[in-house]
Amino acid sequence: MNASLWYSQRSQDPTIFNGALESDLNVDLAIVGGGFTGLWTAYYANKLDPTLRIAIIESEFVGFGASGRNGGWVSALFPAHFTSLARATSRDAARRMHQSMVANISDIGQVAHSHNWDIDWAHGGTVVAARSALQNDRALADVKEFADWGFPDDLIYLSANETRDRINATDVVGATFTPHCAAIDPYKLVNQLSTFLHSRGVSIFEGTQALRIAPGKVLTTGGTVHAPNIIRATEGYTKTLHGEKRSIAPVYSLMVATQTLSASNWENIGLGERETFSDYRNLIIYGQRTADDRIAFGGRGAPYHFNSKISPHQDMNSSVHHELRTTLIDMFPVLAGVEFTNAWGGPLGIARDWWASCNFDPTTGLGSSGGYVGDGVGTAHLGGKTLAHLITETQSELTTLPWVNHVSRKWEPEPLRWIGANLGLQVMQRADSYEQKTGKNSRSAAYMSRMLGH
Ligand SMILES: Cc1cc2nc3c(=O)[nH]c(=O)nc-3n(C[C@H](O)[C@H](O)[C@H](O)COP(=O)(O)OP(=O)(O)OC[C@H]3O[C@@H](n4cnc5c(N)ncnc54)[C@H](O)[C@@H]3O)c2cc1C
Repeated sequence: MNASLWYSQRSQDPTIFNGALESDLNVDLAIVGGGFTGLWTAYYANKLDPTLRIAIIESEFVGFGASGRNGGWVSALFPAHFTSLARATSRDAARRMHQSMVANISDIGQVAHSHNWDIDWAHGGTVVAARSALQNDRALADVKEFADWGFPDDLIYLSANETRDRINATDVVGATFTPHCAAIDPYKLVNQLSTFLHSRGVSIFEGTQALRIAPGKVLTTGGTVHAPNIIRATEGYTKTLHGEKRSIAPVYSLMVATQTLSASNWENIGLGERETFSDYRNLIIYGQRTADDRIAFGGRGAPYHFNSKISPHQDMNSSVHHELRTTLIDMFPVLAGVEFTNAWGGPLGIARDWWASCNFDPTTGLGSSGGYVGDGVGTAHLGGKTLAHLITETQSELTTLPWVNHVSRKWEPEPLRWIGANLGLQVMQRADSYEQKTGKNSRSAAYMSRMLGH
C-alpha cells in the first residue's frame, strides 16, 4: 500500500485495539469492515442501546479501506439520480433522499464537534467549473434539474466572473455551486471515531479476515463470531467474502497531493472557503484544498481488474497518476513546478444498477450498506445510522428512504463484467478528447450515462 496523504500525515501510528481475534466470540452485533459504514453503525447502535455487545472485524486495520484514503468530500451526492429514484419509488421519496443527504452533512459535523474531534472540517460547498461551451450546457441542465425538483438553492449557476472569484481555473465559462459539501481529513475522522468507539466498549479486532457470513455467525481467520445481528460493511472489498463475488464491483479511484502551496499560489487559485472542486468533463475528477494548504486531487481512469481483483499493487498506476498531475496543472498553470508529494489509490464499490443500498433483514439478522460509487463519505454515515435504527427497531424517517432494502441485481459473470466495465471507462475517456477536439457532445457517453441510469 502506498500511503495516502492523510495516512502519511497521521499524528500517531494506528492504535492497537483488541488485536487479532484468536478464539470464538459471542456478541449482540458483529460488523465486518472497519471503514465509515462499520464504524458509524457501531457508533449509533451503541448510542441507541449502550448494553449491546458490539464487535468490529477488520482484515487489515481500521481505515485501511477507502474510508482512510479518499478525497475527503462529505457531500450530499447520491449515486442514483432523482428520476431514477422517483421511477423506482415516488417523487416524494426521491426528494426525501436528497433532503436526508443534505441534513446528513451537518449531522456529521455536529457529531464531530460534540466530541471535539479535529477532522479539518470546512463546510465550504462544491464548485464544479464548466470549461467549454458543452460543459456549460451540462452545468445549466444540472441547475435546471435541481430547480425542477424544488431545490433551486441547492445548486446555483455562477457566471465566468463569479466562478473565477471562487476558483480561477483555466478556460472557465461558468460553474455550478452547491453549499452542501464539507472538506475533511478522512483518516483523522476514522481515527477519532474508532478510538471513541473503543472507549465505549466496542471491540475492534484487526488483522482478522471474515471468510463467510451466515445467519447467526461470521467465520473468520481467528474463530467464529456468533451474533444475532451481522452487518457487512466491506464496500469495494465485498468480493473477499464467500458468495459475494458478483454483488459489488471494485473500481479504483486514484489520487495525488501537492506540497503545501504558497500564499501567492492561493491568491491565484482561490478556493478561499476550502470549496471542494471539479469540472464538467465526463471522466470524474475531484479535489480539495487541505487544511495545510495543499491540493489533494483525484479521479477515475484506472481499469477494472479481471475477476474483481483487488491488490495493493493496483493502488499505483503511473499513467493515471501522471494524467492527474497534468490535469491539475492544466486547470491551474501556477502549479507547474510544484512538488507532488503523494500518490495513492484504492477501490470503491459499485452495484450493477449504480444504486447505493442499505439493507437489513430482521428475520435473518443480516444487513449491509454500500455501493456508494465514490460518494461514500457522507452516505456511509447515513447508512450506518439507518442500520442502527433498523437493528434496534427505532422508528425513524431514515428507515423509509428509497435506498433502504433496495436490491441490486448481480453483476454479470466474467469475462462480461470485465469487458463491460472497461468499455464504459474507455467511452468516458474518449468522450472527453472527442468533445475537446470537436466541440460536440459525445453521443456514446450520453448513451452510456443513460444505460447506467444516472
Ligand atoms: C481514492 C478514493 C477517493 C474517494 N473520494 C471520495 C470522496 O471524496 N467523497 C466520498 O464521498 N467518497 C469518496 N470515495 C468513496 C468512499 O471513500 C467510500 O465509498 C467509503 O469510504 C466506503 O466506506 P466503507 O466503510 O463502506 O468501506 P471501506 O472504507 O472500504 O471499508 C471496508 C473495510 O472492510 C475491510 N474488509 C474487507 N473485506 C473484509 C473481510 N472479508 N473481513 C474483514 N474485513 C474486511 C477492509 O479492509 C476495509 O477496511 C473515495 C474512494 C477512493 C478509493
